[in-house]
This record gives sequence, structure tokens and C-alpha cells, in this order.
Amino acid sequence: MRPRRAPCTDPFQPAEIRRLVGEFGSPLMILDCERLRAQWRKLAHALPGVALYYALKPMPHPAVVETVLAEGGGLDLASSAEVQLAQRLGAPPGRCIHTHPIKRPADIANALAFGVRTFVADNPDELEKFAALPAPVELLLRVAFRAPHAMCDLSRKFGCEVAELLPLARRAAALGVPVRGLSFHVGSQVRDASMHVAALQTCAALLRAARRERLGPCDVLDIGGGFPIDYAQPVADIAPFCAPLAAAIRALPRRVRVLAEPGRYVIGPAVLGVASVMGRARRGGRWWYYLDDGLYGSYNGQLYDHARYPVDSLRDGAPREPAVLAGPTCDSIDVIADDVPLPHLRAGDLVLGRNMGAYTWSSATRFNGYPRATVVAVNRTPGEGARVLPLS
Ligand SMILES: *Cc1c(COP(=O)(O)O)cnc(C)c1O
Repeated sequence: MRPRRAPCTDPFQPAEIRRLVGEFGSPLMILDCERLRAQWRKLAHALPGVALYYALKPMPHPAVVETVLAEGGGLDLASSAEVQLAQRLGAPPGRCIHTHPIKRPADIANALAFGVRTFVADNPDELEKFAALPAPVELLLRVAFRAPHAMCDLSRKFGCEVAELLPLARRAAALGVPVRGLSFHVGSQVRDASMHVAALQTCAALLRAARRERLGPCDVLDIGGGFPIDYAQPVADIAPFCAPLAAAIRALPRRVRVLAEPGRYVIGPAVLGVASVMGRARRGGRWWYYLDDGLYGSYNGQLYDHARYPVDSLRDGAPREPAVLAGPTCDSIDVIADDVPLPHLRAGDLVLGRNMGAYTWSSATRFNGYPRATVVAVNRTPGEGARVLPLS
């Protein structure tokens, strides 16, 4: 008989937030694996037939990786540490790809020893590193498509020019490394899918040309990430966002297998940041609330990732007046927001940041001696309660 499972609790409900902070302390990042599964399924539904590889970079937490693997998903790894994490969690190497275009020989060796066979390159020097390896590999060549309007343009730093692609593919074939396909990343948190569609169509033509020259199977197209979520600015739902892209994918030859490397979309809405008021002061006619998390901690994404998280107090109440939320460190730039309408708060009150899963905990520092937030993963399997995981 199948064990009866209790229904999932919603860890973002006020009583549950208070209970979790009581048990695990503050600052806390509450990771709801049920929301993570919902995001994964919505994206899979919006991109039928596309194989999804979760990019670890926005949140390389074991519970996230395990949840993705349990959904049947793949992993997009970009460093030796990410390879180690996948290996430690028992990820099947056949479901992992390595997508960093610039690697040290040891990074390639580590990924290869784990069993990864698909790598990315975008320049002739990198190709040389694949010339005489102990195991056969397949390459995706990364092409640059600039997205100056994306919140993060990821083609400024990586990718070859469209005109360089065929010469690069010829070089790979000459070195005995088959070109499995092409990849691109048009930038993170993009407004619409028009760049994805344009890049996909250009790459489809390049694949055709490379295949005609027999430079490899040329039957994989990796469309990267970039899928947006709501921050202070709401965005389109994922189904309408992906509709033109899904149509362009349907128009590809049947033999072309399409991969995507979502990061932000999968993990962002699954995490609620919880910070506590350490103290307060009235300055310049406003309340300043000093929190135990800030720009050097989970809110670093406001600097590095250009994100603005929707913040509010857990305590409801009137009247609300514009207040300043500051981080704990002694640096004066460490201010999260300076005009949040808030009820009057006191030391110990909780402040929530929504959609804080991506590019937050992963890039937080311990500046000034303030530790990173504790991550508590809830609903790891449907019906299971809260459980703290080792911070790795
Ligand atoms: C960062 C990154 C991703 C994830 O991008 P999102 O916009 O967070 O989905 C995917 N692939 C590569 C190569 C990346 O560098």
C-alpha cells in the first residue's frame, strides 16, 4: 500500500514563516520545493519537447538539485565545484552538460571523470583543449547574440560572432571533435522572447550549413536561459512569453533536439527571504530599520543582478509611511530600499523579500562578519515537513 502523504504545507503563510524563523533563526531563506516543482512544470509545459537543464549558478543548493533530478530534469554545470555537487548528489552524468565556454584543463578533466560528455566552446584556443582527451566528447559551439535590453546581457563576454561560427566548426572537425550543435544565451530576465526566436532561427541556418559540410551531427540547439520572473516590475506569464519560441521550435527540422538552461525562472519564486529588524532610528523624518540581511547578503542581487525584490513587513498594520530598510553592515551603501511604505516596526519584526531564489544566496558574502542566511528547504518531497540541509 502506498504511504499516505500529508498535503503540502504552504511555508510562505505568516504562521509558518514565524514557526520556521523560531526554529531555524534569522536571516532565513525559505525554499519551497513545491513551488520549485510548479515552476519547472510550467516551463516544461510552455516549451513542449525541450529538454530542460537547470543552471546551478543562481542557487546551487542540494535541495534544488535533488528536486530537479526528481522531476527528471538535467543539470547545466559550469565549474568544478558544480560538477562535484552534482556528483555528490548522485546525478546521472548523462543528464549533465558543461556549459562554461572557458575552462582550465582540470575543469574539463573533472567533468570528464564524472562522466559529462557535452561541453561548450566559443573560440579556437578552447577547441585545442579538446583535441586529445581520454574520452570522446561532443561540443556545442556558443554563438553571441547581444541583448542590450536584457537585465543581464550574457553575450558581451561569451560567444563567437555569427560570421566566425563556420570557421570555428571547421576547426573543431579538423581536430577530430564532432560539432554536436550550437548554443546561445540571449541574456537573463529578458522582456520578451524575440531575441530567443531570432537567435534560434540564425542558429538553425548555421546548423544546416555546418551539417552540409559534415562537421558533425549538428542536431542540437541549446537556447540557454533568460526566462523572466516578477520583481518590482511584473512580467508576462511564461506560457505567452514562450509561445513565439515554441512556434519557432515546432518549425525546426524534426532531427534537431532543443535544450534549454533555465536558472532564474525555476528557482526565483520558490524562495522567500526573511530578515529581522535588529534596531531602528528616526533620521530625517523617516524610520530607518536595520535588518540582519542586506546588500552584502541575500540582497546582493540588487547590485550584481539589477533585481528589485518586492519587500514588505510580515506585520500588517496602519498607518503605513515611507521607511528605509538598511542592511546590517557598517557600509553606507548597504541600503535595500529607502521608500517602502511600512507600518511601524520594532526590533524582532520580520521583513519579507519575495522571489529571492535566484542570484541571492549564491553570491552573498560574509562581509563585516554577518553570516549568509540559513536555507531551510520545505516540501522536499510532497508531504514532508521542514528540514535544514547542510550548507555547501
Ligand atoms: C546564468 C546562465 C544560465 C541561467 O540563466 P537564467 O537567465 O538564470 O535562466 C544558463 N546558461 C548559462 C550558460 C548561464 O551562464
